[in-house]
Amino acid sequence: MPDKKNYEAILKTVASYQSQLVAVSKTKSENEIREVLSWGQNDFGENYAQELAAKQQALPHSLRWHFIGHLQSNKIKFIAPFVHLVQTVDSLSLLQAVNRQAAKCNRVISCLLQVHIADEETKTGLGYEEARKLIAEVHANPPTHIEINGLMGMATLTDDVSKIRKEFSGLYRFFSEMQKVQPSLHVLSMGMTSDYRIALDEGSTMVRIGSAIFGER
Ligand SMILES: *Cc1c(COP(=O)(O)O)cnc(C)c1O
Repeated sequence: MPDKKNYEAILKTVASYQSQLVAVSKTKSENEIREVLSWGQNDFGENYAQELAAKQQALPHSLRWHFIGHLQSNKIKFIAPFVHLVQTVDSLSLLQAVNRQAAKCNRVISCLLQVHIADEETKTGLGYEEARKLIAEVHANPPTHIEINGLMGMATLTDDVSKIRKEFSGLYRFFSEMQKVQPSLHVLSMGMTSDYRIALDEGSTMVRIGSAIFGER
C-alpha cells in the first residue's frame, strides 16, 4: 500500500534540497500508481521495458516515465516512443541503439550515463574512465537523437554510512568535473530508500525512491 505520510515527508525533504523525486513503481499495480499520481507525483521509474510499456498504455499519458533498469538493445523499441529519461546508458553500443530507436520515433531521448560507484561486482555501469571516454566521444560526435543530461549511480548496499557517502561524493566530484566538458549535464541521479538523505547531502539532484513510498516489494 502506498503511504501518503511517508510520501509527503520525503517530498518535503527532497524539495528542500531543490532535488527531484522519481517514484519507483516497479512491480506495483496500476491502481497503486494512480493513487500516488493523485497526490501530485508525476515522475515514475520502472526497470523492465515491457512492464513499463504496459503501464504507460494503461495510465494517463501526462505521466513521465523514467527507465532505471538494465536496458537490453532489443527492448528499447518498447519504450522509445514515450520514455522521458533513460537513466541507465552504460555503453556506446547501447547509446547508439537508443539513438536509432529515437530517430525512428522522430524524438530526441534524454539519457543519463550510469556510472559504477559501488564495490559490488553485480551492479552495472561504466567505470569513471569509461564514462570520461564516452562523454568525450559524445562531445566530439553528438548523437542526433539523444541528449546526455547527466549521470546516475547506485551506492553499495551497506550500513556503512561513510562508505556510501564517499561513493556519492566521488560521483558528485566527477559530475562537476564533466560539466565543464559537457555543459548539457545537469542531472545527478543518486539515492534510493535506504540512502537518499546521504545522496541529497552529497549533491544529488534526483532521487529514485520505491519502497518508502509504495511499501515493500
Ligand atoms: C528499485 C530501484 C530503486 C528504488 O529502490 P527502493 O530501495 O525501493 O527505494 C532505485 N533505483 C533503481 C535503479 C532501482 O532498481
